[in-house]
Amino acid sequence: MIRESLQGLSFGLSIFFCICTVICCGHKKPNGPPYQAHIVASTPSGYQLVTVEFQTLTDPDAVRGTLGEVLGDAVVNALADDTDIIDPSRRSNVYVESGKTVSLDYDIKGNVIYPKNFDSMALLAMYYNFERTFEFWREKLGLTLADFGQSRLFYAPRMRVSENGTVLEGTLKVNAAFVPGLRDFWFFKTSRLEGIPITMNFGVLAHEFSHSVFDMKFGRKDTTVYESESLISQDELSGINEGLADFFSYVVTGSVSEFGASLETVAKERTLPVSWTYSTLASSGCEGSYYCKGSILASALYEIATTGNRSAAEVGKIAFEAMSDFRNDWEVEKNNSTFDYNYYIGRFLARVDESQKGDYCTIFQKWFDSGRVRDNIGCP
Ligand SMILES: [Zn+2]
Repeated sequence: MIRESLQGLSFGLSIFFCICTVICCGHKKPNGPPYQAHIVASTPSGYQLVTVEFQTLTDPDAVRGTLGEVLGDAVVNALADDTDIIDPSRRSNVYVESGKTVSLDYDIKGNVIYPKNFDSMALLAMYYNFERTFEFWREKLGLTLADFGQSRLFYAPRMRVSENGTVLEGTLKVNAAFVPGLRDFWFFKTSRLEGIPITMNFGVLAHEFSHSVFDMKFGRKDTTVYESESLISQDELSGINEGLADFFSYVVTGSVSEFGASLETVAKERTLPVSWTYSTLASSGCEGSYYCKGSILASALYEIATTGNRSAAEVGKIAFEAMSDFRNDWEVEKNNSTFDYNYYIGRFLARVDESQKGDYCTIFQKWFDSGRVRDNIGCP
C-alpha cells in the first residue's frame, strides 16, 4: 500500500510521505468524491461483498457526507426518561458520552476502499444503506435534505446504568432505534446469533428511516403530539408507525427477506405477509404487542402493492401522504381511547381513485376482518 503510494517519487520525498502516511494518516487516501468501497451490501441475490459507489460521502475517514455522519463511542444513559429523550435541549441527559468522529481503517486497491476490520466495514455499510434509503425517498417521494436535516447515525452505542456508584454497561435488547426529539439513529451490535450484522442490514435501516419520515410528516418533529392519556390509543398509533416502517422497509429495499438475513426470530414475526389477521392475533403466538398489530397493516399494504396495478412506490406515496392526513383524527380521539387503525385506513382510502376503492377495501377488510374496518371510512 505504502509502496504503491510512493511510485514515481524521489527518495527524499518518499521518506517524508512514508512517515506522514504511518504517523498522521494511517493509510493512503482514495481519490474522490465519489468514493467507492468494497463492502457487504444487499443485492437482488442477497447479501454479498460488492464494490459500491457513494453519492454523498465527502470524508471517508470520518464516514461523513452531505446527509450526515456516523458517530462511535457514544454512551447512552439508560435511566434517561422519556422527557429527556424527546427534548433536544436535554441531549446531555441522554448521552453520558456524546459520541466521537470515527476513524476508518482501510486499504486502497484500484482507488476502492477495502475496510480492514469488521467495524470499518459496518461503518461504511451504515452510511451506504442510509444513502440508498434517502435516495429512494428523494427520487420516488420527493423528500429533500431540508425535510430531515443532517442525521447522526450512532454505531454501537453502549447503554449505561449508574446507581449508587456502581456502573453497569450493556446493550439494549432492541436492534436499532430512531429517537424522536433528538432525531438520532442508534444501531446496536446485538448478538452472535446474527447472520448479517444489524449494523449492515439495509432493511433495518430503511425501517428506522421510515420512523424519521413519520416523525417529520405526522409529528412535524414535535414529540408532544405522540402524548396521550390513553394507552390504548398510544398502542394503536405505535402499531401504525411500526407497520408503516415495515411496509416502507419493503418498498425501499424491494425485499421482504431483509430482517431474516440478520435475525431468524425477528423474521418469524415480521416477514410480510404475516400469517395472522386482526381476529387471530391473540392465538398467533406473535409476542411483540403493537408490532404484531402493525404487521397486519403492513401486510394489507403489501398485498395492495403486490396485487394491483400500482407499483410499490406508488402505494408508498399514498401511504406516505396519508401519514399527515390522520393527525387531526388522532388529536380529536387520542385521549378517549377511541383512536384506532380505521382512521389511518380511512385517510389512505380517501386518496385512492373511486375505481380502486372497492378492491383496496376488500384487502383491508380481509386483514382487519369485516367489522373491524368500519363502514364510514369510505368503502363503497
Ligand atoms: Zn420500529
